Amino acid sequence: MTAIFGQSRPTWCTSLRRLRIEAATALEVVREARAAAPLETVGLLSGQELRIATRCHPLPNVATDATCRFLADPHAQFVAEQEIAAAGEYIVAIYHSHPNGDAGFSEIDKHFSSRWDCVHLVVGLSGGVQVRAYERDPLDDLVEVTVEIGAESR
Ligand SMILES: [Zn+2]
Repeated sequence: MTAIFGQSRPTWCTSLRRLRIEAATALEVVREARAAAPLETVGLLSGQELRIATRCHPLPNVATDATCRFLADPHAQFVAEQEIAAAGEYIVAIYHSHPNGDAGFSEIDKHFSSRWDCVHLVVGLSGGVQVRAYERDPLDDLVEVTVEIGAESR
């Protein structure tokens, strides 16, 4: 199955309510968020499994007010989606940062997430790094997803 946005995904995964990010990938996202500040960063997380992010794909933020909004460059996003699909991976999540806020979901984020059916990861940078994730449940309610960083403990 290819991993282009809008295509159907296995429905069983939506009940898991968790997202695992490999440590190196999580570090890369935080590094991106810090480097972009005071602007918001945006990008895709991908992996061979729907709930395990192993690669980070930073995208240019072309929002007119990128200090409090994000809009991924459409061409860069297209190229990243093609590369993810060619690698046989899924788009696991969209991430963005709040350089001056926590990792809570803003009203803009709620609106944005209603149009993208995947996990949304937010990196908050005020008062230390905070990472939270959200998704829409089958009734379209916004629910928080547990974020686990690092290898799975057995
Ligand atoms: Zn946001």
